[in-house]
Amino acid sequence: MSLTAALAYARHGVPVLPVHTPGPGGVCDCGRGARCDRSGKHPRLRHGLTEATTDPRQIRLWWTFWPHANVGLRTGVVMDVADVDSAEGWHELRHLLGGDVPPGPQVRTGGGGRHLWFRPTGYGNRVRLLPGLDWRGCGGYVLAPPSRHVSGGDYRWIRRPAVALPVSPAALVALIAGPPPPPVPPRPLRRPDRYAEAALEAETDRVARAVVGARNDTLNRAAFALGRLVGAGLLDESEVRWELTAAARHAGLGWAEIRGTLRSGLTAGRRQPFGHRPPHAA
Ligand SMILES: [Zn+2]
Repeated sequence: MSLTAALAYARHGVPVLPVHTPGPGGVCDCGRGARCDRSGKHPRLRHGLTEATTDPRQIRLWWTFWPHANVGLRTGVVMDVADVDSAEGWHELRHLLGGDVPPGPQVRTGGGGRHLWFRPTGYGNRVRLLPGLDWRGCGGYVLAPPSRHVSGGDYRWIRRPAVALPVSPAALVALIAGPPPPPVPPRPLRRPDRYAEAALEAETDRVARAVVGARNDTLNRAAFALGRLVGAGLLDESEVRWELTAAARHAGLGWAEIRGTLRSGLTAGRRQPFGHRPPHAA
C-alpha cells in the first residue's frame, strides 16, 4: 500500500511526492497515455518536485485522490541516491569503490537496476556519472518501494534503511564534484557583472543545445550555477528565468517541467551564493 509507505518516508523526514503510475502494458496514467515517454516516472503535481512534503495531511490527501500513485522521494534532503540502471553501472561502481560498497540501504528498481542510499553530499543531480550510473542529489527525486515500474516490476528493498545512512565514499564524491570548475578570475572580480553575463550566456547556450535525455539535468545544473550568481547579487532572477525558459523551450522541454526544474535549481543555487565555499558533506 503506497500511502503507508509514503507516510513512513515522511516520518523519517524524506519529502514525498505522488508520481504517475504505469497501468496495464506500461501505459502511463497521465494525459499523454501511450505517448508518454516517462511512463510512471514523472510527478502528478503541477509544480513537481517543489511540492514534495513531509506533511502527513497533505500526503493523505494526495493518496485519497491517487491511491495507486507511485512514491517519489526528494533527494538531497535526507539522502542522495546512486542510481545504477544496468549491470555495467553496478560493475563500474564496484570498480570505483575497489569492491567495497558501503552496506547501506539498497533498492531493487522495477527495471532491474538498483538504488543505493547515502547521506546527502550537497551536490545536485549528475547524469552518467559513470556508464550506467546517475546521481540524484539536490533538486532530484527517486522512485521508492512499492512503486511500479513501466516494465511491470515493483521497486523492492534489498536492504532497508537502518539507523544511519552511510557517508558517500570519497572516490564517489570526487567524481560527483567533477573536474575543478573552469578558471574564474581572481576575486574580487574586477567586473563581476561581466563574468555573470558571460556565465548566463554560456549556460543558456548549453541548455538550448542539450540532447534528449540530458535536457532536464542540463537545465537543473544551469539553474543551480546561475542561482549561485543570483544569490550573490550578480544576476537578476527574472532575467535568468526568462533566458533559461526560452533556452529550455528551444531544447523541447515542456512548460511544467521547466518551471519545476528552474524553481528547485535556482533555490538550491541561491543557498550557495557564488564566492562562498560549498558545504561539506553532512
Ligand atoms: Zn506520463
